[in-house]
Amino acid sequence: MYRLTTDRVDCMRLLLVEDESQIAANLKKFLHQHGFVVDVAENLRIAWESVQSIDYPLAILDRRLPDGDGVELIRKSRRLKKVPRFLVLSALGDVDDKVHGLNLGANDYMAKPFDPKELLARVEAMLRTPRARSQGCVTVGNLTYDRGARVFSVGGQGLDLRRREMEVLEVLITRTQQIVSRDELFDRLYGFDSIPAANTLDSHISRLRTRLAATRAGVVIRTARNLGYILQQDDVGKLK
Ligand code: CA
Repeated sequence: MYRLTTDRVDCMRLLLVEDESQIAANLKKFLHQHGFVVDVAENLRIAWESVQSIDYPLAILDRRLPDGDGVELIRKSRRLKKVPRFLVLSALGDVDDKVHGLNLGANDYMAKPFDPKELLARVEAMLRTPRARSQGCVTVGNLTYDRGARVFSVGGQGLDLRRREMEVLEVLITRTQQIVSRDELFDRLYGFDSIPAANTLDSHISRLRTRLAATRAGVVIRTARNLGYILQQDDVGKLK
């Protein structure tokens, strides 16, 4: 289920470390239906790269992964400035396994098989603290912007953008349905003391348009002649 209207929801970006693709896909879909954007890492290496580049409030962690025990991620993450909360979700579910996981720093531990409703309740309980609370999301078409994490996603999939492109899109999505002037975008991008070539902004907009169309973001950046730009929902690009 995708939200297709301009909408503010409490959504957050989570990391799911899981190598069984069916479990990962089902859980991702279930959590997305409850307002979470979920990135899936299918092994420890990808999970480690992910937690280093994105400030996740919470990671759901399988243990038996192709390249090691998932709890290794908890150990390694101690070096990071911002460490996610960890919910271990594992077939290794006897008392000793749980104690071991919790001793290593897991914040919660659930045994497989599990009920997704219980998992959701635990995730929400773990996030019910001021630090973890997101500043909220804006969704237009299939494109969601998480203000707290400063990330864009399309249909639950993270969208990687260059810094300037992200800055332009941030301004446009937080002012949906309003014309944003070129001067304002210039000031936001370059400040008042440098004057880049006028066509620099055009090339950022052009690349963004291509990117949004290619990812079926369901939004378009329209040019308001002599005025600026406006971000609008594009019904043609709706995800089914
Ligand atoms: Ca596994």
